[in-house]
Amino acid sequence: MAFASPMSPSLHSLSSNPFSKHNKILTLNKIQPFSLSHRHALFRIDWGSLWQGQASLNYSLYSSITSADFLLDEALEKIQLPKGDTWSIHKFGGTCMGASERIRNVADIIAKDESERKLVVVSAMSKVTDMMYGLIERAQSRDNSYATALDAVMEKHKFTALDLLEGDDLANFLSLLNQDISNLKAMLRAIYIAGHATESFSDFVVGHGELWSAQLLSAVVRKNGLDCTCMDTREVLVVNPTSSNQVDPDYLESGRRLEKWYSHNPFNTIVATGFIASTPQNIPTTLKRDGSDFSAAIMGALFRARQVTIWTDVDGVYSADPRKVSDAVILRELSYQEAWEMSYFGANVLHPRTIIPVMVYDIPIVIRNIFNLSACGTMICRPAGSENENGQRMESPVKGFATIDNLALVNVEGTGMAGVPGTASDIFGAVRDSGANVVMISQASSEHSVCFAVPEKEVNAVAAALESRFRQALDAGRLSQIAVIPNCSILAAVGQKMASTPGVSATLFNALAKANINVRAIAQGCSEYNITVVIKREDCTRALQAVHSRFYLSRTTIAMGVIGPGLIGGTLLDQLRDQAAVLKEKFNIDLRVMGITGSRTMLLSDAGIDLSIWRDLLRDKGEKADMHKFVQRVHGNHSIPNTVLVDCTADSYVASHYHDWLRRGLHVITPNKKANSGPLEQYLKLRALQRQSYTHYFYEATVGAGLPIISTLQGLLETGDKILRIEGIFSGTLSYIFNNFVGTQTFSEAVKEAKEAGYTEPDPRDDLSGTDVARKVIILARESGLKLELSDIPVQSLVPEPLKASGSAEEFMLQLPRYDQNMAERRQEAEAAGEVSISSPHY
Ligand code: ADP
Ligand code: ASP
Ligand code: MG
Repeated sequence: MAFASPMSPSLHSLSSNPFSKHNKILTLNKIQPFSLSHRHALFRIDWGSLWQGQASLNYSLYSSITSADFLLDEALEKIQLPKGDTWSIHKFGGTCMGASERIRNVADIIAKDESERKLVVVSAMSKVTDMMYGLIERAQSRDNSYATALDAVMEKHKFTALDLLEGDDLANFLSLLNQDISNLKAMLRAIYIAGHATESFSDFVVGHGELWSAQLLSAVVRKNGLDCTCMDTREVLVVNPTSSNQVDPDYLESGRRLEKWYSHNPFNTIVATGFIASTPQNIPTTLKRDGSDFSAAIMGALFRARQVTIWTDVDGVYSADPRKVSDAVILRELSYQEAWEMSYFGANVLHPRTIIPVMVYDIPIVIRNIFNLSACGTMICRPAGSENENGQRMESPVKGFATIDNLALVNVEGTGMAGVPGTASDIFGAVRDSGANVVMISQASSEHSVCFAVPEKEVNAVAAALESRFRQALDAGRLSQIAVIPNCSILAAVGQKMASTPGVSATLFNALAKANINVRAIAQGCSEYNITVVIKREDCTRALQAVHSRFYLSRTTIAMGVIGPGLIGGTLLDQLRDQAAVLKEKFNIDLRVMGITGSRTMLLSDAGIDLSIWRDLLRDKGEKADMHKFVQRVHGNHSIPNTVLVDCTADSYVASHYHDWLRRGLHVITPNKKANSGPLEQYLKLRALQRQSYTHYFYEATVGAGLPIISTLQGLLETGDKILRIEGIFSGTLSYIFNNFVGTQTFSEAVKEAKEAGYTEPDPRDDLSGTDVARKVIILARESGLKLELSDIPVQSLVPEPLKASGSAEEFMLQLPRYDQNMAERRQEAEAAGEVSISSPHY
């Protein structure tokens, strides 16, 4: 039959067609497919019922039905919708429909698709739906600026049309746009007067964005030479509202209406409005925010299409929101369940309800980037085999991570809950009555508490509903509290293979613990497609980055603050500068020095300091040192999961902060001996804290410089060895001096030589006093389990008593030869006692 291929070029010459009367309609469709006037001719809007938000918005046929028309209709309905693989569905989001240039681009992509038949679902131009909701908001709150805001909406579309269309197409579009705008003006005026709009009234208003964008796009597609018509999906999609501000498609009725619609519009290219639909009573409604993805999926199912392609502004579904995790990777393939979980948990690249309609018929969804056609996108489909040739698993068991912000936790607690049937039903009954949506639930098996997350804006109503429902139980003490914990976020890990891989949650929680993130509640469905944790909102991005880098082996980013850029600190910074590339490439560590502080000046940077010029920067751009501010900025002004402070001073004031830093989750690395050799009680507190938490406190360089002495000792102790004795030369400086204090060499000459060679501290008394050695000894002793104070270590100082407190280092060096005689005697005594042996130095 001639209609089997309605897109054939013979569309104009249907004279051989037995239903020649229909020629007129088809030709009309071709010249002016789905014009708004056409739409208005079909619909008569019963404003009264729209206003009340009730049934019976009548879309009735205006035209008088003659018997000939009737016959024609009957005949037309015999044109069957050719369902199946010949159809491909495309959906272009608001991001793709931002301006005239983009709309042209969309039309090009449609032209390039070689499918025999295609249905294109479009969103409103970007921002338009927000603008439309804004109009209603303003009118409802009796703000008469809605009129200028409506003008802006009109201007946006007019401007775009002027750029895209010309001649009759342009004139038609503009006249219809004007007509719609004047209708909207009247409606908004009515809302303004009433100070209220029903949901159906709002839905009717906001849906215009999609009507206009579909109009514009189909006109451009036709201008490009492709026969195409426009579908007002309110004529086809029938949905039932649910109590939870969602809608459920009525596939049977929608299918029937589609058949009918198609029989009147048998085109091979159809541009359809996303987002909008009708109730069974023909009241215009919407599929709710971001619903165009859902529209496309429903269409996919109704047409039994080969594929649904969702075009947007990113290369596909990423392993985490690319705005929050710069290392996120594109997921080539996702199962339907994984995509559903990801989108449910906030990956707004796809509306969560998009999956179910297509999953039923195994129709794949492909997410593609309209701005990067070379990227192949993400395919969402039934999972194929998961193993590579060697039988090894190819990918991480966790596919992706997503977060939902602005949640509050509600905790209902009490001993009267355990073993009482119906408590959960009462709780969630009350929550339902408050109209809130429960995002996750967790109940420990002790049944003493039930906790659940709801959107923050709904939590007050939930708490009030619970308090009123459980008043009696609260008064009687059967319930101890209904607590609200605000400012929470959910982090969900999603992946089908989590089900068969042990240790996934251990790794997840370990990564969170290492980033010092406190988990407030946990839920894991037994399908094991996702693990959900509730955390503080302020930790959310850091948590996302920490877990993502753990599973995807992306770079471990570390924020570092260096305290004391002297000889040691400065050398460290230079080493970091030289090692940065190796750390990045070989070890996947991205180390960023966010701050350097001396005792007087500090340098801060939120992006990381350029280490090739850190000295110049510190000198020229440094600000007044302030330890509190320093730590605040190094730790707080970024979303890097790990922060480490390196104390390169020998200062006990700096060391006195370690406990607080570790408690706050900052890792500490130091060669400074003051903390570990200070008062025993403080040392024990520090070690206890370090054992409890996942924060690192590394102090290997406090003894033996670069040699792994402490870690060796720890290793021996952990494996059951007992330390009997530790022998050593604990000071390279003293060793050097003693080795040279032989023959005719005087003591002061030996010290002078050591100082000139740069082996001593600037003031050699720091070495000669023996305190430094005693500190090293006490650190090793404590490490071995001895509970000693520094004063328990006997030390013979080599600083002559009168020179202990007086003068500068230079003065000390000048005075020292006066004691050479005395030192020579002490050496002889030691020699006589057999306490001197000449050996090669050990540093
Ligand atoms: P459209 O207007 O095309 O429907 P949306 O703004 O609704 O586009 O969705 C696309 C956006 O979703 C992207 O720009 C991206 O920032 C965001 N997004 C959030 N999570 C993810 C994720 N895991 N993968 C990809 N995009 C994501
Ligand atoms: N335009 C609608 C919205 O912004 C639907 C969509 O774009 O998916 O919510
Ligand atoms: Mg979207």
